[in-house]
Amino acid sequence: MPELPEVETERGRLAARLEGRRIRGVRIDDERLTRPEDPALVAGRLGGERVVALDRRGKYLLIRLGSGAVLVVHLRMTGGFRYEPASHERAVLELEEGTRVAYRDLRRFGTWTLLEPDEAEDYLRVRLGPEPLGPGFTATFLAARLAGRRAPVKAAILDQRTVAGLGNIYADEALWQARIHPLRPAGALSAEEVAALRRGIRAALRRGLRRQGADLGDGTYAGGRMQHEFRVYGRLGEPCERCGTPIEKARAGGRGTWYCPGCQV
Ligand SMILES: [Zn+2]
Repeated sequence: MPELPEVETERGRLAARLEGRRIRGVRIDDERLTRPEDPALVAGRLGGERVVALDRRGKYLLIRLGSGAVLVVHLRMTGGFRYEPASHERAVLELEEGTRVAYRDLRRFGTWTLLEPDEAEDYLRVRLGPEPLGPGFTATFLAARLAGRRAPVKAAILDQRTVAGLGNIYADEALWQARIHPLRPAGALSAEEVAALRRGIRAALRRGLRRQGADLGDGTYAGGRMQHEFRVYGRLGEPCERCGTPIEKARAGGRGTWYCPGCQV
């Protein structure tokens, strides 16, 4: 599932094709994509619009249109844009000069939500906390979000209102970086540990961005290199590069969770 580094990489590639271009026509072949809106209605609204900017908030891609409307795209499990004909195409954008941009999604969990100019900011604000690489993601903010919570810290930081854009891979990498055991109750972290966790989250995401995300070999996010640098994610039984202890796997918040029992306490 794409997280902040993968979605940001997708944003950059899509921006190069869409920004400043006019959409001549749109075809949406999957009613699940725009539910509960009628896909023909959404496609009709997009036709003729100019794309003024491609932004990202958390794991959402924001396609900002000339009318002020915003198409909010969430890739979920397997969504992504392609610039050559691809399998599992669910929608196609035809641009004015004949360029074709396809949206493919094998498992069909992705969503396209067309919001009016005055709706977009509220839509995002209720769903997302601050950007973890921006100035709003302070240790004070993170401490307030974790305080009093008995849930495992791993589950707590997967809440998008706590860390926008963080998902299973980078949460595990961040906790390893911060030397914090993923099953510790979130509210039990000291101020120093919260500060270390904030630094770990930012470091893990920045590393992912520099490697253009992770390519897990399913063809969905091709080209990323982060998968070669995981410290714990998916490395069950391999030695921790910091202390040599074999990596273990547990479940936290319903998600597979990898950690080092030697140096994450
Ligand atoms: Zn270790």
